[in-house]
Amino acid sequence: MSIQTEVVIVGAGPCGLFQVFELGLLGIKAHILDSLPVPGGQCAELYPEKPIYDIPALPSVGAQELVDRLLEQIRPFGAEMHFGHEVTAVRRRDDGRFNVHTAGGLEFDAGAVIIAGGVGSFQPRRLGVEGAEHFEGSQIAYRVRSAAEYHGKRLVIFGGGDSALDWTLALAERASSLALVHRRAEFRAAPASVAKMQQLVAAGRMRLLEGTAQSLIIENAALAGVRVKDNAGATHELPAERLLAFFGLAPKLGPIAEWGLELEKRALKVDTEKFQTSVPGIFAVGDINTYPGKKKLILSGFHEAALAAFAVQAHLYPGKRQFLQYTTTSPVMHQRLGVADPPPQ
Ligand SMILES: Cc1cc2nc3c(=O)[nH]c(=O)nc-3n(C[C@H](O)[C@H](O)[C@H](O)COP(=O)(O)OP(=O)(O)OC[C@H]3O[C@@H](n4cnc5c(N)ncnc54)[C@H](O)[C@@H]3O)c2cc1C
Repeated sequence: MSIQTEVVIVGAGPCGLFQVFELGLLGIKAHILDSLPVPGGQCAELYPEKPIYDIPALPSVGAQELVDRLLEQIRPFGAEMHFGHEVTAVRRRDDGRFNVHTAGGLEFDAGAVIIAGGVGSFQPRRLGVEGAEHFEGSQIAYRVRSAAEYHGKRLVIFGGGDSALDWTLALAERASSLALVHRRAEFRAAPASVAKMQQLVAAGRMRLLEGTAQSLIIENAALAGVRVKDNAGATHELPAERLLAFFGLAPKLGPIAEWGLELEKRALKVDTEKFQTSVPGIFAVGDINTYPGKKKLILSGFHEAALAAFAVQAHLYPGKRQFLQYTTTSPVMHQRLGVADPPPQ
């Protein structure tokens, strides 16, 4: 059964989150979806610990802290959030409303759609060896769903960042054997984790190899190991029932490119009054859009979200008069925000 809503927001990065706020101030309800399991887009996924210095009035704010603050700011509007749901299709119906579908089978009936898809949905970078796709989701994985799956197994981990090192440390004692393969001697992970891993290697509890995956060893249609080419050109056969690869996430514009919207250099063309795409009723804010002078900055996306909210209101309720109200003084906005009216001065 499809979920009825005024607006569906595709993407819960900083701009999608702030879009909930701007719509909420105007009394418009939204559902927000993201293919990632958590909100925050690039801020949460790519640089959560880094400080950002160009958010107005916040001289320095950690990227994850910015996401947390946005979540707190939008809480009064009770937007329903759906994480781990990639939006695969958006179709305009003859009555002007939209059918929105996700890969996981959710279905929405929305009056308007706002795409805040950033640089696309994040997908793990995959192990680039022939035949890997047959074992993905069974013996080859790009994230750990349950650590217990690896207990007592021969395991090879690929990567040199925090995820690769954290899981190496967590599983070294639990796997029946463990090898870490990284393409170079320098690691991007926290130095303390690298030091602990090197202690395990020195104690003979795991193996470390500098090199790259070359091919899979397959026996009786099951994965039995992996061949790794080291940086001197020698090939090593590592027996393994499980491979974990942590090569980071790469954005993929993905399904958005197939919704019939006008694109320019992999971004959605919008006007700068409404931030509407080439299809009336579908808007785009944040890194996903393009227009003359576009700058891919969070504060630009915030401005776009404010204007898009007014445009969405006009689209949903064409006859309605629009007022610019201040959050400082508007009783109706105070009601929507759930704050008491300040006493008159
Ligand atoms: C290292 C780094 C440092 C940065 N520093 C700054 C800075 O100092 N100041 C600044 O202003 N900007 C900075 N930026 C840029 C800033 O992070 C982006 O401008 C901002 O994240 C854009 O927000 P967004 O909401 O438009 O998109 P994103 O943050 O990219 O979020 C988009 C979300 O949409 C989701 N999505 C996409 N397609 C789908 C789909 N089909 N279905 C469901 N979900 C989907 C994605 O999974 C993602 O979570 C930095 C970027 C990087 C990488």
